[in-house]
Amino acid sequence: MSETVLNYIGGEWSRAQSGATAERRNPACTDELVATFPRSGREDVEKAVRAAREAFEGWRRTPAPRRGDILFRALRLFELRKEEVARAMTREEGKTLRESRGEVQKSLNVLEFVAGEARRLNGETVPSEMPSTFCYTVREPLGVVAVITPWNFPVAIPAWKIAPALVAGNTVVFKPASATPVTARILVEVLVEAGVPRGVLNLVYGDGGSIGSMLVDHPDVRAVSFTGSNEVGSKLHADAAKTHKKVLCEMGGKNPLVVLEDADVELAAVAAAQGAFGSTGQRCTATSRAIVARSRLEEFLRYVEREARAIVVGDGMKESTTMGPCVDERQHRTVLEYLAIARDEGARFVTGGDRLSASALQMGYFVPPTILADVKPSMRVAQEEIFGPVLSVIAVDSFEEAIEVSNDVRYGLAASIYTEDVERVMRFIDRIEVGIVHINSPTVGGEAQLPFGGMKATGVGGREMGRTAIEFFTEWKTVYVDYTGSKRETNIY
Ligand code: NAP
Repeated sequence: MSETVLNYIGGEWSRAQSGATAERRNPACTDELVATFPRSGREDVEKAVRAAREAFEGWRRTPAPRRGDILFRALRLFELRKEEVARAMTREEGKTLRESRGEVQKSLNVLEFVAGEARRLNGETVPSEMPSTFCYTVREPLGVVAVITPWNFPVAIPAWKIAPALVAGNTVVFKPASATPVTARILVEVLVEAGVPRGVLNLVYGDGGSIGSMLVDHPDVRAVSFTGSNEVGSKLHADAAKTHKKVLCEMGGKNPLVVLEDADVELAAVAAAQGAFGSTGQRCTATSRAIVARSRLEEFLRYVEREARAIVVGDGMKESTTMGPCVDERQHRTVLEYLAIARDEGARFVTGGDRLSASALQMGYFVPPTILADVKPSMRVAQEEIFGPVLSVIAVDSFEEAIEVSNDVRYGLAASIYTEDVERVMRFIDRIEVGIVHINSPTVGGEAQLPFGGMKATGVGGREMGRTAIEFFTEWKTVYVDYTGSKRETNIY
């Protein structure tokens, strides 16, 4: 059964003003229409920004703990719809039900953490150089913010942007990925039912290149929080500068998992497989490079091959499936192109290599878990984000070389090291150029109360999640109060 989802603008569910629509199909079975959604245009964007602008004053004046109460209510309502959201996510994005349920739980954790932050939007009191003067700082909301999100975590990422934006007193125009319209609708529904007032949160569907750009260029939008590809993020960052917007971009990754000669190699291989093939490799934190001490290479390959061969590829709606399809035709084609590039560059296929064509899989965008051995650090499959279930294995001869190879990419999101040598662990933490480091655990994952984001070409503009999320969505005001009103001399430099 397919459904028709609508924009939510100024407190009303509505079609695009032009009446134009687009479709989303199930990536595990492209015959199946999942949803029809509005293909919005300029008039819809204008209406949404206007609604958000008009609602701003009332929302910023609402006491922050009351804003937090709404998020706590949303948390409880969302909890009641956990399974519905997980199923919708699997159907439109393709990840397995287990993965979808995990993502929903993470979104709940985010809502819970951020709702509590409403009572901690603290500033500071600071001693003044001047007598009878009280100095302090307050956080203020920015105004209308645009939230532009990818399809790979269609509930968690919107939640970890929208929740802190709202708690901090901003109003939001949310443009979700076109691949995941239904999960976006449910998230907005829950927030609205919880009491977010009319105009404070607006949902606009449509093509990113068109309405996403309009939001980025709009003079009344004060900030853009974006997660997605480097291609889009780089352009968006430059465009937003023209209207002096605050911008946060979280983009690609090429995350290394380092296995030193003293490591528990089986543990490392299991983690590498989880990191590389979980969510079909479509995670910004996916383990896409295993950098392995040459002396343990064959052993590592044996274990990781065992893990890859145990994966059951198929429709994520089946409980027995452990890896779903690529999200769409474009992503599927990209992965297959990278496999051809790997072949041309001389990589050795330990597993995988072609699209899966068994009859049950013919109607979906399936590829097998693929392990590439004999990969050199300069190869394209070792440098570029593939965003599919492909693990490139690189052999190294020393700890120094492992660090150099790990850092020798333009990205800097997550990294992991397997070793029992504490000194090397500490040196790795010190020198690795990433925003998130894992020791003896996979590259993936992130908890709601901790900052999340990357260095180098992965991220600009701040960190998401944790208390740092509030930083992006507020600006500081510094206040000097002369409470006698009698100063003759002031230190004016
Ligand atoms: P994408 O193609 O860049 O799209 C992301 C969002 O931007 C979508 O809502 C898209 O809309 C919109 N968009 C497209 N063109 C735009 C434009 N010109 N102006 C404004 N918005 C525009 O990325 P994706 O394929 O959805 O996601 C995969 C990428 O996200 C990967 O590179 C992955 O590493 C990255 N990612 C990073 C993190 C992180 O935290 N670092 C987390 C998750 C994902 P449409 O869907 O309508 O095109």
